[in-house]
Amino acid sequence: MQAKIILMRSIQMVDLKQQYQKIKPEIDAAISSVIESCLFINGPQVQNFTKSLATYNGVKHVIPCANGTDALQIAMMALDLQPGDEVITPSFTYIATTEVIALLKLTPVFVDVDPKTFCIDTEALQRAITPKTRAIVPVHLFGQAANMEEILKIAAANSLYVIEDNAQTIGCDYYFSDGTTKKTGAIGTIGTTSFFPSKNLGAFGDAGAIMTNNDELANSLKMVANHGQSKRYFHDIVGCNSRLDTLQAAVLEIKLKYLEDYIDARRAAAQHYDAAFSGHPKITVPFRAPHSRHVFNQYTLILKGVDRNKLQDYLAGQNVPSMIYYPVPAHRQKMFAHFNSSHTDLPVTDWLTERVISLPMHSEMDDEQLSFITTKVLEFINP
Ligand SMILES: *Cc1c(COP(=O)(O)O)cnc(C)c1O
Repeated sequence: MQAKIILMRSIQMVDLKQQYQKIKPEIDAAISSVIESCLFINGPQVQNFTKSLATYNGVKHVIPCANGTDALQIAMMALDLQPGDEVITPSFTYIATTEVIALLKLTPVFVDVDPKTFCIDTEALQRAITPKTRAIVPVHLFGQAANMEEILKIAAANSLYVIEDNAQTIGCDYYFSDGTTKKTGAIGTIGTTSFFPSKNLGAFGDAGAIMTNNDELANSLKMVANHGQSKRYFHDIVGCNSRLDTLQAAVLEIKLKYLEDYIDARRAAAQHYDAAFSGHPKITVPFRAPHSRHVFNQYTLILKGVDRNKLQDYLAGQNVPSMIYYPVPAHRQKMFAHFNSSHTDLPVTDWLTERVISLPMHSEMDDEQLSFITTKVLEFINP
């Protein structure tokens, strides 16, 4: 007789395999149908997905593109921002947000974040505005919305564009104080998102999208994403080539139907973590801002008086992965050395950079895995 040992599924930061297994027949059929049709560029799936995404987000126009970094670049190009224009951005974000600003020869102005939400500090934002400021890029970090109501007020008072970097937070509901609700990404002048595989709505490769409610801007965005073309072979402005693959659109069209389930699963996992860690003197669990529904692209703790490297090593020894998002904030990256000056002082960003740790978070976590992770974290912290 053979002994049967049932092992816990291995723990990963993001478990794409398990997620795929659950919808494999549907996905495989959709991929085959694209291959059979050979309509690899701008096949009908691109249009269908784009429409479904616009409906989901309650936004008038969705312009698909190749990835979330291109989405930001196309947004800034379509707004006709000029070299030297200042764009205010948090430094505590993925590099793409800030890199695109510099790539277009605009000037990134780094501001600090709120220590609870990890999103842009609106008072610091207000203070950073100069006559050269043209745009604000709030980043909805880790699955939680920035304080959009305040940001919109500041933008309106100073005639600034708002480009929401919604790469990590697709599906997040933002609650305005007048009782209305909007999806993040559909609130500012333009919203951008990414379908990088580990995002809440992940493709099987690179993909991205841009959204706006402004008809004229939608037109410019489409042109910029397609070689500045107004009609075929007539190129009015300098653009780029950034398309959403038909294959990726076919995958995304299916996965969009499950996005709410994925978000529910992520929120349930966060609840499990919270229950184990809340109130611990050395751990601060993710803040849930009353203005939004957190969609937990990441579950990020702030540690107090814990040797983070040793904790990571300990967890790794138990086959529990963990990550530091982000180990070096944008304003301390070499690529931005020439933008740095003595007044780039971002104490909250630096403070968070030294103390945050992200635990495994995805739509396929089960209670056994979650309990194992929380036990191991607490075992290290309370020896
Ligand atoms: C992932 C991400 C991007 C870039 O998306 P890609 O599709 O990888 O280009 C931009 N901003 C933020 C905040 C991100 O997390």
